[in-house]
Formats: sequence, structure tokens, C-alpha cells
Amino acid sequence: MEVSVIKYFKFLYSIIILFSIFIIIFFSSTLSESTSANTSNNLTVYSSSTITSTSNYVWPIPGITRISSYFGKRKSPTAFASSFHKGIDIPASPGTNIFASMSGTVVTAGFSGSGGCTVTIKKDNILISYCHVSPNFIVTPGQYVEKGQLIAQVGPKNVYGFANNKYRDSNGNPTNGATTGPHLHLAIKENNVYKNPLDYFDDF
Ligand SMILES: [Zn+2]
Repeated sequence: MEVSVIKYFKFLYSIIILFSIFIIIFFSSTLSESTSANTSNNLTVYSSSTITSTSNYVWPIPGITRISSYFGKRKSPTAFASSFHKGIDIPASPGTNIFASMSGTVVTAGFSGSGGCTVTIKKDNILISYCHVSPNFIVTPGQYVEKGQLIAQVGPKNVYGFANNKYRDSNGNPTNGATTGPHLHLAIKENNVYKNPLDYFDDF
């Protein structure tokens, strides 16, 4: 009698172990699926040589898809930066090439308030601004640029010689607009309203 009870419990024990293993495997697979969907950069990255589509916007920094600050409400990172983030921030080293997300006419290539050194390109009802870029501008207002064309480089944190620049770091040095470090701030305005830039890129 006692032996059969022990056998019964051994059987029950092994069933529980097997079931637990199954549960662990099942949940770890669904968990890894959801985390990879959240964190992987499954965004189509275009380089200037592979652009053939006319409908897609070109990701401005091929190979860098990390976003350090998304569009929308946020805690302001500096005293001057907006608590509603009107674009997305793509961190990259100074000198990193920036390519035009769409074709259009350059309307701004200069120092522009909180955006610092800014290149803005217009096409129909859409304006795309590339902010905190290098002060060594490589495009000029009025110039037509093709989608995927090199239009700027990521700028340094500090820029000098802009009389209208009120932005300073903690050391009192002038900064490249409202910025805490080198990055591209990408902003898209459609019909004069700021939009989430990520909505314009496929697969993001
Ligand atoms: Zn930003």
C-alpha cells in the first residue's frame, strides 16, 4: 500500500516537473519574441546607392537606427529643450553623414534657435528639418537636393560664432542649439503640423 502511494507521488512529481519545463519553454519563447519585436531595429535602412523606390522616405543615417528620444511628451533633458519633443533624436558621432530623407528644395541652412545648425528641406506640403548638424554646411538655401543625397553631417555639441545663439552648456560654452550631446534631431512638418517622423519610414 505504502509503496504504491510513493509511486503515485513520484509519478505526480515527474508530471509537475515536465509541466513546469513545458511552461518555462513556452513563456521564454513568447517573451523573447515580444522583446525582440520591441527592441530590434527592424527598420528598412537605405543607403544612397540602393534607393530605387519613389514612395519611401530614406532613413537619414544609414546603419544607425537607435532612437534616444521619441516624438511626443517627455521630460525635458535641458533647461531649454521642449517637454513635447517635436521630432526624434538619433545619436551619432560628429561628422556622421546625413542623407536627405526626401527630395526637395533647401529652405534653411543655418543656425535656427533650439535646433542649432539646421538644414530644412521642403517638398510640397512637407518640411523636413535636420537639426544640430555641423556648422560647415554643404547645401545652400534654394538648392534642389535628391532623396538620398548627402546634405549635412552630425554636428558637435558646441558651436562658436553664431551671434544669435543663446544656448549654453554648464561650462558656459555655446551649444549647437538645445542639445546635451551630438545627435541628429529629425523633425517632419506636414501642412505646418509636427508629425511623428517614424510614421514616414517603412517597417518602423
Ligand atoms: Zn530632439
